Amino acid sequence: MLEAREGISRESRTLALSYGSREILDRAGAWQPAFGTHWGIHAGMRVELPKVAEIHSIHNSQKGGFGRAVITREDGGVPALGYVLSYADLQTALDQALIAKAVTVERGAIVSDITETASGAQVSYTQHGIKCSVAADVVVLADGGANLGKVPAISVIEKDYAQTALLGQIQSDTPHSHRAYERFTPEGPAALLPKCDAHSYSLVWVASAEKIEHLKMLDEAGFCAAFQAHFGFRAGRFLAVKDRRSYPLKLRTVSSAVAGHVVVIGNAAQALHPVAGQGFNLGLRDAEELAGMLSTTVANAHAASTALENYAASRSKDVSRSVGFTDFLVRTFSNDHALNRIPRGVGLALVDILPFARKALAHRMLFGASR
Ligand SMILES: Cc1cc2nc3c(=O)[nH]c(=O)nc-3n(C[C@H](O)[C@H](O)[C@H](O)COP(=O)(O)OP(=O)(O)OC[C@H]3O[C@@H](n4cnc5c(N)ncnc54)[C@H](O)[C@@H]3O)c2cc1C
Repeated sequence: MLEAREGISRESRTLALSYGSREILDRAGAWQPAFGTHWGIHAGMRVELPKVAEIHSIHNSQKGGFGRAVITREDGGVPALGYVLSYADLQTALDQALIAKAVTVERGAIVSDITETASGAQVSYTQHGIKCSVAADVVVLADGGANLGKVPAISVIEKDYAQTALLGQIQSDTPHSHRAYERFTPEGPAALLPKCDAHSYSLVWVASAEKIEHLKMLDEAGFCAAFQAHFGFRAGRFLAVKDRRSYPLKLRTVSSAVAGHVVVIGNAAQALHPVAGQGFNLGLRDAEELAGMLSTTVANAHAASTALENYAASRSKDVSRSVGFTDFLVRTFSNDHALNRIPRGVGLALVDILPFARKALAHRMLFGASR
């Protein structure tokens, strides 16, 4: 594995992972022991291990309209609908799983070129100022999209949502009881994800780039008041906020996940709007499916090509439905048309009262369209 990052992860983001992703990480040896217990032994010392917060229910509503839907872990038939954790902790857990499985990882290796050869592909990279290259039967591009331009057979399709996400940590005077919130507003969704501290949430506020810039500049009290007005009081009174950062939002897909001996997975293959927190979950499903297909393939170029074709065919339904579902939510809920508000409210109310609709939605969020 060639990884540009040198040392431990410094990602400051928080992620919500579905129960299905927890199962994948478990199978890959990256959940236990990192997230299974809060205490462990490291280098002979008792240390606190990274923590995760469970999501037991998700409250969905729309601003300025009626209707709301609450999805619970009982609807999903699982101990938790999802888990809120730090991206850096997750990357550390994955790094440790790679060590445990004796995978060779070249750190500080920045890939600069990918060239197709008759029997595979050649990857050029620079590591600590030294130019290197490696040949492989199959190249898996999982770099978030940084090198997509180096694979001419794959074209990139982008849609700019003209929205920016503000992320932060916000404190409430009311315990969260493991409930997450998704509130659809005309300017974009706002979400709260429960953290390990019972009064603390990870916050996502989507709006225009200009509005987000303005919100970042507000002092703490001003920001809490603005978010209170935007979100309402269902999660209590907001008292403090920290770590405000912003990300511009785009939908990016590729013409094909496979080109010759190169396969593109995760955000390199599809970068989604964070509205339903699906991006990393979808990428994990890509990775597990590909690993399964390649592990049953004998090591020759022809067999590898067949495995990649099978991979592309088996992932297309889950990927296209997840991209379509996320895009549908953004288009349907990010506007203030009165004609849309009524069917939206009816939709939310129906999901709320119909157990089979709640179960179907929970299943989609937990496992995608792959089961
Ligand atoms: C605001 C926001 C909130 C989100 N919230 C959620 C959420 O709650 N739940 C969820 O499931 N998803 C969420 N997502 C999506 C999620 O962040 C992405 O889907 C996920 O980070 C993609 O992982 P990845 O490994 O494919 O790519 P990345 O996380 O981009 O990782 C790419 C890796 O490739 C390495 N790399 C890059 N370039 C090179 C190079 N040239 N050479 C070698 N290595 C290289 C990097 O060092 C890195 O390790 C959110 C996204 C945004 C923008």
